[in-house]
Amino acid sequence: MEFKKSQKLYKKGLKHLVGAVNSPVRAFSSVGGNPLFIKKAKGSKITDVDGNTFVDLVLSYEPMILGHRHKKVQKAIDKALKNGYTFGASTENEIKLAKIVCDAFPGMDKVRFVNSGTEAVLSGIRLARAFTGKDKIIKFAGCYHGHQDALLVAAGSGLATLSLPGSKGVPEGAVRNTLIAKYNDLESVKAHFEEHDDIAGVILEPIAGNMGVVIPQNDFLKELKTYLESKGALLIVDEVMTGFRSKFGGAQELLGVEADITCLGKVVGGGFPVGAYGARNEIMQEVAPLGGMYQAGTLSGNPIAMAGGIATLTELKKQNPYEKFNEIAQIIEVFLLEKAKKHGVEITVNRFGSMINPFFTNVTVTNFEEAQTSDTKKFATFFWEMMHNGVFLPPSQFEAWFLSSALTEKDIQKIAKAIDKGMEAVAKM
Ligand SMILES: *Cc1c(COP(=O)(O)O)cnc(C)c1O
Repeated sequence: MEFKKSQKLYKKGLKHLVGAVNSPVRAFSSVGGNPLFIKKAKGSKITDVDGNTFVDLVLSYEPMILGHRHKKVQKAIDKALKNGYTFGASTENEIKLAKIVCDAFPGMDKVRFVNSGTEAVLSGIRLARAFTGKDKIIKFAGCYHGHQDALLVAAGSGLATLSLPGSKGVPEGAVRNTLIAKYNDLESVKAHFEEHDDIAGVILEPIAGNMGVVIPQNDFLKELKTYLESKGALLIVDEVMTGFRSKFGGAQELLGVEADITCLGKVVGGGFPVGAYGARNEIMQEVAPLGGMYQAGTLSGNPIAMAGGIATLTELKKQNPYEKFNEIAQIIEVFLLEKAKKHGVEITVNRFGSMINPFFTNVTVTNFEEAQTSDTKKFATFFWEMMHNGVFLPPSQFEAWFLSSALTEKDIQKIAKAIDKGMEAVAKM
């Protein structure tokens, strides 16, 4: 397998693009080599500029849950494009997508569409502060909530891959109101409440996906919610990654909790730039033009993006692929564990619904510290062997692999074979 054209474009890209990428997670910093340049994708497969075709487990870092260019989505977008691109005024499709989203999340009476997950979360945080009149927010180490200043501390995959502690350019003042707790550790949350009386809320990924997949243990979420209620603080659930991934709606529902504020992105736009935040009426009442919390967007609710979102979610609901996702993830887990054992490689596999990944470590991974015990060099070797055997993975130990409903029996066999080769290569290191 050759990557000559990608290499050529990479060199060309370096001149006017930073690292030849527009998001650092696309750089191959921790696995070595050059980032891939993509030409096209269809269904479960993605093809690079050299003509190499891979089974795609990146899915643009999650959104392409139906696979690429599903014909119903394509048709909806083609149709929307004929009417214009953006109007700076409302369209009926915004109402339609809002209904689909609110119906899927029990705790959501109203929703506001924005342009990215980052925007959804920064607005959700502002809303929590507006509603409670308090300033402090607790986040968990290893959870990523977009690149806004206030939450760019202990923020998981992108930073962990590049070994950055936080980010340059974030003023101390911007994170003064951010408190860090340990995932799956309620005591670490309580400790903050004992020290501070101005905590607006706690934000978390219900299933963490940005330190690799990490699952809440026992009743962590339920106990957290009960505790927050007793303190008059809000639970802000960042479902940018998990929304519509494990059920039609949120992971919070599967885990038996209801968020006060929910943030969405990725799948909700079906591959177009859409984010959303929503809550019950009492809270959404604070948002302008109804209330005093200002938040706006020139392209928010963009008609093409709304058409993509509606078509994706409508088809997703019809397909209801969630049971199938579980089955495929379980099959992949078995492959990983069996092949690792066969070649004498120590791994831990975490999965939830259609998110799964192995950690090259012998410890159970329930938080960021444990995730970081992984051997990233082993991952790099594994990654390249998977690529050479036709499976496109995120180039980081600390990212989840995502399943699409377009995966075929043949794709799964290809994944199995690649895993065998991958583990063999790791064993030879
Ligand atoms: C991807 C992600 C974000 C940020 O979304 P962008 O669209 O990249 O800005 C926020 N939170 C979580 C949990 C995410 O996975």
